[in-house]
Amino acid sequence: MSVNQSLKPITTKINDNGNISIGGCDLKEIANEYGTPLYVIDELTLRTICREYKEAFSEYKNIKMMYACKALCNMAVSKILSEEGFGFDTVSGGEIYTVYKTGVCMKDVLFNGNNKSKQEIKFALDCEVGRFSVDNFYEAGLLDKLAKERNKTAEIFLRITPGIECHTHDYIQTGQTDSKFGFDLTQVDDIISLINSKYNNLHIVGLHAHIGSQIFELQSFYDEIIILIKEMERINKKFKLNMNEMNIGGGVGVKYTENDNPPSIKDLAEIVTKAMKTCSDNLPTIYLEPGRSVISTSGVTLYTLGSSKQVPNGKKYIAVDGGMADNPRPAMYQAEYTAEVVNKANYKEKERVTIAGRYCESGDILIEDIELPKLETGDVICVYNTGAYNYSMASNYNRVEKPAMVLVNNSQSDIIVNRETYEDLVSEDRIPDRLRK
Ligand SMILES: *Cc1c(COP(=O)(O)O)cnc(C)c1O
Repeated sequence: MSVNQSLKPITTKINDNGNISIGGCDLKEIANEYGTPLYVIDELTLRTICREYKEAFSEYKNIKMMYACKALCNMAVSKILSEEGFGFDTVSGGEIYTVYKTGVCMKDVLFNGNNKSKQEIKFALDCEVGRFSVDNFYEAGLLDKLAKERNKTAEIFLRITPGIECHTHDYIQTGQTDSKFGFDLTQVDDIISLINSKYNNLHIVGLHAHIGSQIFELQSFYDEIIILIKEMERINKKFKLNMNEMNIGGGVGVKYTENDNPPSIKDLAEIVTKAMKTCSDNLPTIYLEPGRSVISTSGVTLYTLGSSKQVPNGKKYIAVDGGMADNPRPAMYQAEYTAEVVNKANYKEKERVTIAGRYCESGDILIEDIELPKLETGDVICVYNTGAYNYSMASNYNRVEKPAMVLVNNSQSDIIVNRETYEDLVSEDRIPDRLRK
């Protein structure tokens, strides 16, 4: 079984106190020590999935793993991933800055996005990021101009829309025609002609596509790769280019609930290899950009139960000290999660409850209808699979401080992101002098 097929971090256990532990750390003690809500990342789970990716693709020599930073971006996580041999797929100046400050090799960084600002492109060029994925005509011109000013050549992928519909939530589907991302297949020849004739500071290394996220059907990847191969071979011939890199994006799913059946990384590697066998030219270098499947399972969030409310003849709500500001996914796209009560791991008597967040929105429900041991104020709840798109999507809604993040491994825990303070919340606020009179 691959890590992304597990509901929980691989080190999850029930310890002698009857509490859930991860990375050898008792989660009740961790909650007491660092406070809640708290993001916890299990280092062993993270390193294990990285090694699974590398192992699965070991037969394919020309492969680059680029972790999609937008799933979770901070310096400690970047450090671990770079130790595991991953590069970084970034989508903003802030992400580039984070990996730069971490000290990763900037040649192994790729800059993606459908509306990169001038300032971000300048910064990326000055940091010497290795690859740009060019999304549209405007950006090609801008990148060429800024590269020329610096006497540099930008190595680029062209992001294309392969016209693939994959079965996932509409908001996380990206490869269908009409998508806001990338060049439509009918525009590819125009952009290449334009670059060949005018943009001397761009060098096209290959094509890029990304078809969506939380994908369970490997056939979508197969179809995508076939389209990429055909296009690359057609373009190389027609324009006498030798593009020899192919970026197939990310998107492999994870197991949020028992109903989810994501594919294994080994099966992904097999289907990629099978698709690559249809190449008639030399095998290109493949870039893979997994985000969710790399980090999601390593992360859990701890909450403390506060109030609860039994609606007469209705639901029982239990309210926790976090919610849609630390995990917007349930409110945003009805994402489902699994949870357990840390300090009641062995309790047999269960009740059916709905876990509500603390934020002032009716939609702030973390988990609808879940069986949990009979709950009391002060119980600690662990929501699984929150490593991806939780902290990275967090906000300060209701002017609440963002939670801390702790890394656990071998019974040791370390803060990797400090909890925000009230002072942090007002630190960028200014009152103009004219309002002080
Ligand atoms: C978001 C994104 C990824 C990562 O997707 P996951 O579903 O997290 O694996 C990869 N490539 C691109 C271009 C993306 O936008």
